[in-house]
Amino acid sequence: MNETIVVLGAGVSGLTSALLLSRDKRNTITVVAKHMPGDLDGEYASPFAGANVMPMATSDESQWERETWAELKRLCQEVPASGIHFQKCQVHRRNKDISMNSDVPKGPFDTNPWFKDMFDDFRELPQDKVLPGCDGASEFTSVCINTAIYLPWLVGQLLENGVQLKRGVVSDIREAKRLSHTGRPATLIINATGLGSYKLGGVKDTNMYPARGQVIVVRNEVDSMLFVSGTEDGANEAVYAMNRAAGGGAILGGTFEAGTWDTQPDPTTALRIMSRIVKVRPDIAGGEGVAGLSVVRHAAGLRPYRHGGARVEAEKMDDMTTVVHNYGHGGWGYQGSYGCAKSVVEIVDKVREGRTRAKL
Ligand code: FAD
Repeated sequence: MNETIVVLGAGVSGLTSALLLSRDKRNTITVVAKHMPGDLDGEYASPFAGANVMPMATSDESQWERETWAELKRLCQEVPASGIHFQKCQVHRRNKDISMNSDVPKGPFDTNPWFKDMFDDFRELPQDKVLPGCDGASEFTSVCINTAIYLPWLVGQLLENGVQLKRGVVSDIREAKRLSHTGRPATLIINATGLGSYKLGGVKDTNMYPARGQVIVVRNEVDSMLFVSGTEDGANEAVYAMNRAAGGGAILGGTFEAGTWDTQPDPTTALRIMSRIVKVRPDIAGGEGVAGLSVVRHAAGLRPYRHGGARVEAEKMDDMTTVVHNYGHGGWGYQGSYGCAKSVVEIVDKVREGRTRAKL
C-alpha cells in the first residue's frame, strides 16, 4: 500500500527517518521544518552537537545505539562525503561524579560498560595514563561527525531518493496532514520536532525539557577525543573535546544544564571551559594556555531530553492518519539516529500491514 508521509522536523532525527523511509518506493515523502540544515538557532539542536559516539544508554536500552554505531562506522569507512572520521576517544572517570546527583550523563563512565564489546579496541587505560584527580579511564576508537557536512549530506541523499523538503511552521501537529507536496492528505506524519514537541499543539509533551550545552568551536586540534566526568567548577559541568572531520575545527565543552532554556553563550562559562581544556590537554594551544586558542565561535544549544526516555511510537490521529513520534533523544540524537529511524520504519510497516489487512 502506498503511503503519503510528512516528516515534521529537519534535524538528525527527521532527516534520518526520511532517509530510511525513502528507500521504500511505496512511500512519497515531504520533509517540512521551521529550521533546515544551514540554520543556527536555539530551537534547532542538531547543528550544535559535536557530534561523536560516546554511548549513553543503559544496557537494556542499548539497541538504538548499537544499530547506529554499525551504520556510522560503515559511512566513516565507505562514504567520506558524509563528513565522519574515526578518532580515538578517552573517557576519564572521577568516582565522586558518578555518585553525585548532576545532569552530566553517567553512561560513558560505567566501569563495566555494555559497549566494551561494541568497539573493536576498547581497553581500560593503565593508571599512568589516567588524568590526575581521576580514578580510572578507558579508551576506544569512535567517530566524530562534522554536523555542518553531515546534515547537508543527509539532505542530498533525500533529494536523490525523490524526497521533497520545504519550510513550514505548524502550531498543531494536525496541520501537517495538509503539507504533503503531492496535495494529498498525509496518511502518516513523523513527528521529529525535538524540543518543539513541548509546545506543539496536539502533542504538548510536558515530559520534554532542555539540557543546555555551551561549547566553543576552535581552529586548534586535539590529538584524541576526551570526556572527563566532572570538574570542581559546578555539578553540571564536564570537560570534553573532539575534532570534527574535514576542517570542522575542534569542539570544546561543556555544560549539561537541565531545565535551562537560555541559548546565549555566557563568557565566564566559556572561560572556564577553555581553561579546563588547556589544563588537561596543553598541546591543543601549543602550551600557550587560553590565549593559544583560536576561537571560531561560542555557542549554546539545547539537548532535547525527555523524562521517561525518547518517544518512538505510533499514535492514531484519525481514521486516515497515524502519527509516528521520534523525539526526545537528549544528548545522543546522532549516536542513536539510525536505530531510532529503523524503529520508525518498522512502525510504519506495521501500520501499512494493518491497513492492508483491513482492506481485504
Ligand atoms: P532538532 O535538531 O532540534 O530538530 C528539530 C526540528 O523540528 C527542526 O527542524 C525544527 O525546526 C523542527 N520543528 C520543531 N518544531 C516545529 C514546528 N512547530 N513546526 C515546524 N518545524 C518544527 N548527540 C550525539 O549523538 N552526540 C554528541 O556528541 C552530541 N553532542 C551534543 C552537544 C550539544 C552542545 C548539544 C546541544 C547536543 C548534542 N547532542 C549530541 C544531541 C543532539 O544534537 C540531539 O539529540 C539531536 O540533534 C536532536 O535532533 P532532533 O532532530 O530530534 O531535533
